[in-house]
Amino acid sequence: MQYVATGALACQRSQASCTLFAVNAKAKRIAVIPGDGIGREVLVEAVKVLEASGAPVEMQHFDWSADCYLKDGTTVPADGFTMLDRDFDAILVGAFGDPRVPTNIHAKEILLGMRFQMDLYANVRPVKLLDDSLCPLKGVEPKDVDFTIIRENTEGLYVDVGGVFKQGTLEEIAVQEDVNTRKGVERIIRYAFEYARQHARPGRQPKLLMADKANVMTYAHGLWQRVFKEVAKEYADVKSEHMYVDALCMQMVRDPRQFDVIVTNNMFGDIITDLGAGLQGGLGMAASGNIHPGRTSMFEPVHGSAPPIAGKNIANPMGAILTASMMLAHLGLNQPAAKIDSAVLEAVRQKKTTQDISGTLGTREVGEWIAARVAA
Ligand code: ATP
Repeated sequence: MQYVATGALACQRSQASCTLFAVNAKAKRIAVIPGDGIGREVLVEAVKVLEASGAPVEMQHFDWSADCYLKDGTTVPADGFTMLDRDFDAILVGAFGDPRVPTNIHAKEILLGMRFQMDLYANVRPVKLLDDSLCPLKGVEPKDVDFTIIRENTEGLYVDVGGVFKQGTLEEIAVQEDVNTRKGVERIIRYAFEYARQHARPGRQPKLLMADKANVMTYAHGLWQRVFKEVAKEYADVKSEHMYVDALCMQMVRDPRQFDVIVTNNMFGDIITDLGAGLQGGLGMAASGNIHPGRTSMFEPVHGSAPPIAGKNIANPMGAILTASMMLAHLGLNQPAAKIDSAVLEAVRQKKTTQDISGTLGTREVGEWIAARVAA
């Protein structure tokens, strides 16, 4: 295993540093982009745990961040996304967002840039409760909260199409377009059906639920409904269901047992995965992958850079560590991934946790405990 920390200038020198990968031809090549705020703190721990796991990976650090942007105006170097796609097997990201960059331009260009330009159209976010004590619902066990949300990641309200007219006047008009293409909707629905089929729980028929708001957004979500019904015919073995997103929110809290795989659009996916994170112990526990099958995919914890708690050694690193394990599993490295998952579970059971989930340890101490357990 090799970890190459290329420092702040990595944003300009990304290509030159990639030649270091001749070291181990069999190792998976991982680009590590910690970003801002607690992203930097939690990724250090995720990297420690990856190293302890013995997984055959070589990691290279890129400091694409608010610091880098404030230093020389760079968000992503000219060939940045092409280089990531060409030279790496996966990307591990922390989080972006810094109050010193109020426009959030660097975060948009790096994170949304990666999702859009690398066409990482499936945002896969597992909602998995590790221990009863973490769930705010009464009488709920880990087996009751175990489902996956698949969020469309390249369209919808995130495409930045819109504008304002007569800005600053009493007649001001603001328009934000919800962009849904036939191609984009069909491929995420197909991905979700395949995912449901491949991840069916033993003894259970595969099940996929689509959530939208077609009763109000008749054009955009009418398209989702038509495509869902059409594609469902090709997956007769998968039980297909539908809920309006408001009803889904209520059901996620009332009875999370009923869900296996949920597919939805970009904005609703963003919102319901925070609700899902709440069911599993909070934002600090939730992992995600931004995936384009067969191409270099990117993995990041669900949480953001959390400026109010950054730099205090109190951020929960478990979401980032579980994200690293999700990345390994995606790369076919199931054994080290399973070792990491069981070490995180043990840390939760033994209360080796940060304060957001009622522990007393710091970010570093949790990361070190899990790394030691993984290495044992
Ligand atoms: P974004 O829009 O970038 O996803 P956000 O506005 O949803 O970000 P986060 O940065 O994810 O917000 O965090 C919101 C709050 O949740 C934080 O201020 C913090 O209190 C809590 N939080 C988030 N992540 C963690 C974590 N890893 N450990 C502990 N608390 C966290």
